[in-house]
Amino acid sequence: MAGEERVIGIDLGTTNSCVATVLDGAVHVVPDERGARIQASMVSFLADGSVVVGNEARQEQIVDPQNTVYSAKRLIGRHYASKEVKTALQSFPYRIVKGKNNVPLVEIRNERYGLPEISGMVLRRMKDIAERYLRTPVTKAVVTVPANFNDTQRQMTKLAGTLAGLDVIRIINEPTAAALAYGYGRGMNARIAIYDFGGGTFDITLLEMRDNVFEVVATAGDTYLGGDDFDHRLSRYMMHAFKQQYGFSLEGDTIAVSRLKHVAEKVKCELSNNPRAVVNVAELAQDERGQLLDLRFQMSRDDFAERHQDIVQRTFLVCDEALSVAGMKARDIDGVVLVGGTTRMPLVRQMVAEYFGREPLTDINPEEVVAIGAAIQGAALEQDHFTSAGGTRRNAPLLLDVTPMSLGVQTVSGYYDVIIERNASIPCEVTRTFTTGMDDQTSVRLQIYQGESKVAVENIKLGEIELYGLRPGPRGQVEIQVTFEIDTNGIVVVTARDRETGIQQATRIEVSAGYTPEEIAQMLERGV
Ligand code: AMP
Repeated sequence: MAGEERVIGIDLGTTNSCVATVLDGAVHVVPDERGARIQASMVSFLADGSVVVGNEARQEQIVDPQNTVYSAKRLIGRHYASKEVKTALQSFPYRIVKGKNNVPLVEIRNERYGLPEISGMVLRRMKDIAERYLRTPVTKAVVTVPANFNDTQRQMTKLAGTLAGLDVIRIINEPTAAALAYGYGRGMNARIAIYDFGGGTFDITLLEMRDNVFEVVATAGDTYLGGDDFDHRLSRYMMHAFKQQYGFSLEGDTIAVSRLKHVAEKVKCELSNNPRAVVNVAELAQDERGQLLDLRFQMSRDDFAERHQDIVQRTFLVCDEALSVAGMKARDIDGVVLVGGTTRMPLVRQMVAEYFGREPLTDINPEEVVAIGAAIQGAALEQDHFTSAGGTRRNAPLLLDVTPMSLGVQTVSGYYDVIIERNASIPCEVTRTFTTGMDDQTSVRLQIYQGESKVAVENIKLGEIELYGLRPGPRGQVEIQVTFEIDTNGIVVVTARDRETGIQQATRIEVSAGYTPEEIAQMLERGV
């Protein structure tokens, strides 16, 4: 394999991340120095100026929630005024501030960081883990993103990779990676559902496989539905139990509340393996006489299932939505792949089996399956590149994904004119002809949006393209040809051309998500 560079696959998750690589034809999930195969997607800034990332940061979060950043993936590529940032402002213990151009920034210990910097630190940690294990520098990676990530979020994820010193050779959708890990795509025809229930989000994707082509036929999700909901509800219940026992509330005691959330998660996970869980939380709080109080708590799997099944039920409303977009019924699905730690719960597996009328696939660890698929795709891309240089081209898995959102332009009246429909297969290209709106107009400006609202500004603005030097002429008579292209990474390129003069203006919409070129340069310089 001399000359061939190792490619790693990284699942950059909201809660956890995982890295894998193909070694001598077999996929390996890469463990860290302590043997952990999964890392928390967290970054903690310590008082002495040092920064810890991954599982170590998760420990810090318990004692120092204000200086520990988690769920950066929820905020990356978003506008400060977006719903997601507003929700985060209310519920996240760390500080989020408004930067230039309405970009959200994380402010910790008087320093401000862009979200790509935070995600970059997590990616850097995954790169370091791989390098230590492989004992060789690693520069190339395939990184996964949710199928519904828009162009800006994809671009910002790529930037995070660059900040981590990685060349992101391909961004692929998480469900597609999961399907690849199960070996789908080797000439089979099947319809599969990827049921991804993680720590904070739920996503369902319906994939159709014909020969070696994967097509995402529909995708739907709920960005605030995940394992955390179980932890939250269970910890509230524990607080209630504490109050019943000691007669006072833990509300407002941030450390006790944060500790209980971790204990609740442990109880939840234990109930996946055992029919009953018993915990003793020592010295949880103090009463007014300074006496330290413990909480002893126990719960059965059945009781847990009864108290939480409505949370699982909510995932099926999202599944209904995706199936309806695809024009399918649950029973039309040939295989159900489970992704995400929450799918380890027996309650989830049982309810999924009932909903789809078939047992889901569980052979591969649901927390590693996406990284495994990314590693397979990485090896295939590298192999393809390598062997084609030598003359014998092998086929990399051909991935056909769909665009999660419609792409279009703002019309004169402020409405939104869709050019590429949501769920169109990518890569794709559409050319439209526009005409000038005024006499002797010599330039046109197209504002490009992604989204589904009829009103342009209610969508996500990706950027704009301006074409100068148009030939003067009566309104409606000068024609401008605009080509919209979405590449295999889901990244948008728009080209405008005056049909008569041939003047062309191409814009790879290098969406900066509001960051100025200087700010990006600064992030690059600072390194992560
Ligand atoms: P992910 O985002 O895929 O890494 O999933 C993380 C979520 O999976 C967290 O909410 C974990 O508490 C949950 N999880 C991990 N292992 C288990 C388990 N054995 N049983 C139940 N939930 C689990």
